[in-house]
Amino acid sequence: KLKLAVLTSGGDSAGMNAVVRAVVKTAIIKGCETWIVREGYEGLVRGNTEGHRHTHTHAEKGGASPRLKGAEFHEAESFIHNLRYGDGELLKDGTGDHPGGRTLKGRYIVRVGWDDVRGWFSEGGTLIGTARSVAFRTREGRLTAAQNMIKEGIDALVVCGGDGSLTGADVFRAEWPGLVSELHNEKRITDEQATAHAHLKIVGLVGSIDNDMSMTDLTIGAPTALHRICESIDNINSTAYSHSRAFVLEVMGRHCGWLALMAAVSCGADFVLIPENPPDADNWADEMCQSIQSHRDIGKRKTIVIVAEGALDSKLQPIHSEQVKEILSERLGLDTRVTTLGHTQRGGRPCAMDRILPTLQGIEAVEALLESTPDSPSYMIGVRENKITRVPLMDAVKMTREVAQAISEKNFEKAMSLRDPEFRE
Ligand code: ATP
Repeated sequence: KLKLAVLTSGGDSAGMNAVVRAVVKTAIIKGCETWIVREGYEGLVRGNTEGHRHTHTHAEKGGASPRLKGAEFHEAESFIHNLRYGDGELLKDGTGDHPGGRTLKGRYIVRVGWDDVRGWFSEGGTLIGTARSVAFRTREGRLTAAQNMIKEGIDALVVCGGDGSLTGADVFRAEWPGLVSELHNEKRITDEQATAHAHLKIVGLVGSIDNDMSMTDLTIGAPTALHRICESIDNINSTAYSHSRAFVLEVMGRHCGWLALMAAVSCGADFVLIPENPPDADNWADEMCQSIQSHRDIGKRKTIVIVAEGALDSKLQPIHSEQVKEILSERLGLDTRVTTLGHTQRGGRPCAMDRILPTLQGIEAVEALLESTPDSPSYMIGVRENKITRVPLMDAVKMTREVAQAISEKNFEKAMSLRDPEFRE
């Protein structure tokens, strides 16, 4: 019987709750026991404090699935409440990547059942919390994480996060046998525990709003972020039209212009600036102004320029939205405003695609874990041409890093061919 834990890590994205729901429910159907880990890898490192007062989950009160009634039901319901509002002391010890970050003390690895994740797919963000963990980057931190998992009896892990989180997952699995023997030698785990936990099974799902991972067509959260951007542009369009203004919209995407490009296509923008296809450093402003002026000449009352936050010119100099605003104001005399969409792009309810994709991928993740052997690689679950896929996790991470490297070397053709093998073919 597989004992499986799921965590979300790195930047939050819509659809992460749907991942947790799908993984927990599929695992229960397949006869596994299920846990959630709060606050990403930080929760694995902190583990559970003995004797800490806590609200029981449905699973802890009555097994994996039965419905609860009355007071017990109420208590289990407040598990969800406490995930949102906290059930413990807040730590302000700055042990996260962000000093002063709020983290909950007490229980981080919690046994959950069917009812605990009911309805989660329509919730935005991640209910189980996410964090950037400094401790997990160290071997000592991962040793403690392994001990905490073994203490709970967990032998399989589903990680939903970006390329950093998936790298962490791969490092953890590669080190696992060494961690177990060290814990055993130090008598931190028993002989039986060392034998039962000789191998760690791990699988990764890509939660990232930027759609910046190689070897998959779509990452979890990207469709919702795009949807949010489109809604914002629709709102801006009406005021831009009324005053005949120009708007420069800055959207997320540090190394990947997918959100900017797709938003431009979805909303009929006049010009778009992305990292992967930088305009000529000497005359990009001329090109942009000519294009916009030609639209104005045929009677267009509003102008929308979309700038990815990582937009570059061909000399790899960043292009900032304020700079674009000045060009439009000074050269074309347009009344221009900048709107940085910021974190509104991350928030809110997942769109349908960010419920479907995580659900199908969550099911595949559990199947991949059940079929995993000590010799099989850790998989990343992706999607190619509408089919859910399994690819070796490290290949996808390596290729994603190579794309960033190729962009930094101005080798854009290589970057695009690495990101999309179809382009290469
Ligand atoms: P985003 O795309 O939102 O940045 P991410 O998953 O790439 O998400 P990171 O901050 O890079 O975000 O990674 C999240 C966490 O994963 C880190 O805080 C760290 O705990 C763990 N991690 C990342 N890289 C490694 C590594 N090489 N070894 C061990 N752990 C790692």
